[in-house]
Amino acid sequence: MNTDWTKIRGDFPILSRSVNGKPLAYFDSANTAQKPSAVIDAVDAFYREHNANISRAVHTLGMEATEAFEAARQKLARFINVRPDELVLTSGTTQAINLVAYSYALPRLKAGDVILLSRMEHHANIVPWQLIAERTGAEIRVAEINVAGEIDLPALWQAMTQDVKILGITHVSNVLGTVNPIEQICREARKRKIATVIDGSQALPHRKVDVAAIGCDFYVFTGHKMCGPTGTGGLWAKREHLEAMPPFFGGGEMIKEVRFEKTVFNDPPHKFEAGTPNIAGVIGLGAAVDYLEAIGMENIQQREQALLTYATHALKQIEGLRIFGEASEKAAVISFQVEGAHSHDLATLLDLEGIAVRSGQHCAHPLMEFFGVAATCRASFAFYNTEREIDALVAAIHKVRKLLG
Ligand code: PMP
Repeated sequence: MNTDWTKIRGDFPILSRSVNGKPLAYFDSANTAQKPSAVIDAVDAFYREHNANISRAVHTLGMEATEAFEAARQKLARFINVRPDELVLTSGTTQAINLVAYSYALPRLKAGDVILLSRMEHHANIVPWQLIAERTGAEIRVAEINVAGEIDLPALWQAMTQDVKILGITHVSNVLGTVNPIEQICREARKRKIATVIDGSQALPHRKVDVAAIGCDFYVFTGHKMCGPTGTGGLWAKREHLEAMPPFFGGGEMIKEVRFEKTVFNDPPHKFEAGTPNIAGVIGLGAAVDYLEAIGMENIQQREQALLTYATHALKQIEGLRIFGEASEKAAVISFQVEGAHSHDLATLLDLEGIAVRSGQHCAHPLMEFFGVAATCRASFAFYNTEREIDALVAAIHKVRKLLG
């Protein structure tokens, strides 16, 4: 397929604006992705033409809203190759991990059990587990990485001792870009009866993901990083887990029958979807799935790999620039520091040139500790970026170096 990336870039209205008098170069897609008109229009059309609450009304609008919401669930399920009735819609990854922590782990873990987490986890896949560990007496163990930013596999196998009950690991690192060999890791965990919680936040936007083939117990993701609206996302779990887990939140929508003596819960996934969800957002996320599928995830991955190669080569020419994360399999994320420039100062000066990069710990404090740094700058790419934008980034860093040097 001969993909017209210039035309595709034109689908994103925000990308034609300027910032500080310069054309915007948006390199913060790992933080949140920009939205194409197809997604913006789907949200707009819902509020203009179909707005009603779901699952409650027999009137036309209510039925239209429910149908569109459930159609989005079907699209998402197909996108990641799972059954729609095993896909719980959440406000994002954070809520999904907390759901697993409180509904699955809390009733099962006891003192002496171990929750194994990788060094490269986002805080969303660390803090909920610490809260559960505190309540149950379980311990957190860390699976270490090497200097390239890859999981140390022999050490991981060693860390998978009998007392490990849960392994939380990211599919793709939001800081290093490392793509973890998640199928292999889940296979080893299964042998040892360890439940696997895979954070797919940074994987779904950038590659074809077949959750069924991964062989995990739980797979979580967030919609806003895959061109969908904020406040959307999901949790896939094996049906047997969803049946056995108690609800996390109680309220409307998640029940079949409520009496003061006893409430009968709805079937999964609705059992975990109390209250009015982000209906317009989920419908927008469905439109995002359509949009990504129309381009093709293989094409997206190929384009982003080309941008990564181009940017890595260009950035490496800059004296005093250090890149964090050089895994052999890597998504289009580059964390870096420039000698003599504090990351926040650098990001602020780049912003003056219209260039958006993130600076800080990227919600991965333990990873920063590993590399012995307080913060990095992170340029994260999406298929709508261009080589010209990367040239602008490189030129701007040179300018900053001169300014500070
Ligand atoms: N995990 C990873 C790897 C992430 O990159 C992020 C978002 N930066 C999250 C979890 C949290 O996602 P959300 O804030 O959308 O729940």
